[in-house]
Amino acid sequence: MLKIQYLVSGGVITNYKCSSKCKHCCYSSSPKWPNDYMTPSLADEIFAVLKRLGCDAIHIGGGEPLLQPDKIMSVVEAAHRNSIGIEYIETNASWYKDAASAKAVLKELKDHGINTLLISMDPYHNEYIPFWKVKGLIQACSDVKMNVFPWQMEFWDEIDALDDQKTHSLEEYIRLYGQDYPVRLMGRYGLNLKGRAFMTYRPFMKKQPVDQILKESKPCRLLSGIYHFHVDLYGNFIPQSCPGFSIPLKELENGTDPDRYRLFNSVESVGIKGLFELAEKEYGYMPKNEYAGKCDLCYDIRNHLVLELGLDLPDLKPEGHYKYI
Ligand code: SF4
Ligand code: SF4
Repeated sequence: MLKIQYLVSGGVITNYKCSSKCKHCCYSSSPKWPNDYMTPSLADEIFAVLKRLGCDAIHIGGGEPLLQPDKIMSVVEAAHRNSIGIEYIETNASWYKDAASAKAVLKELKDHGINTLLISMDPYHNEYIPFWKVKGLIQACSDVKMNVFPWQMEFWDEIDALDDQKTHSLEEYIRLYGQDYPVRLMGRYGLNLKGRAFMTYRPFMKKQPVDQILKESKPCRLLSGIYHFHVDLYGNFIPQSCPGFSIPLKELENGTDPDRYRLFNSVESVGIKGLFELAEKEYGYMPKNEYAGKCDLCYDIRNHLVLELGLDLPDLKPEGHYKYI
């Protein structure tokens, strides 16, 4: 039985659509996603389950959740109806145009009981968002007394050394800070190397023969991330470690049949070897000779199922995770 009995802290993903297509995004968010947003009724359903599972507070993230500020308010109201606190809302600041319009949004958020914005600031985001917008939003927060959780402050001077009116590519950062900058950045940021982040850093990773990867296979405990889980706008529980795998949260609460979620169950209970054998036997999957580790093999299998075979598999959702990488 795949079951969750307890959740401590995590977040809801109100939308996957984003103004940016950051190279470090483990959810593979981008402007190409459909303009779907978490509905108030689904938010009610999710927050009621979270409450029953012992989780009293969450954060809100995306995609960029403030691309549609009117819609976020009804998600916040649903959280209040279910006595779930909101620790912060994550934002990339791309929506900032001027002080007056930003302050209007911030004041409405404050009226809805939101006291903190996590504002992204790092070279990955700076490829898409000029730094003046981040600075403008911080100033607007200060003016309306909204707390700011800067993520991450240690990059401020590096970003601010470049023209804040423009975006800057990672190549510019490499020219300024050295060839090994992207690899150092990965370690400093503490990246979750999944989704687009994995594709960005795959070329830097050592290749291993597929047999060796299978020999070293261990269970990937997808359900163990009770401290930083996410639930998305489709009601899916997204494991902390591995977006692209999912199971509807309400099914996990009561315990769900592992046979319905065989791919999820195979990595959860056996590991990459279990997923590989299932894909080979039932879906005609043929591996290459080598991969940049188990997660590379895992993505190759999942891409084969979702993109090449076009299968609609309940545990590999949302498909956009694979399509919009
Ligand atoms: S990291 Fe954030 S801003 Fe960047 S693409 Fe992902 S969701 Fe969007
Ligand atoms: S092998 Fe697959 S399930 Fe296991 S950690 Fe890597 S991506 Fe996640």
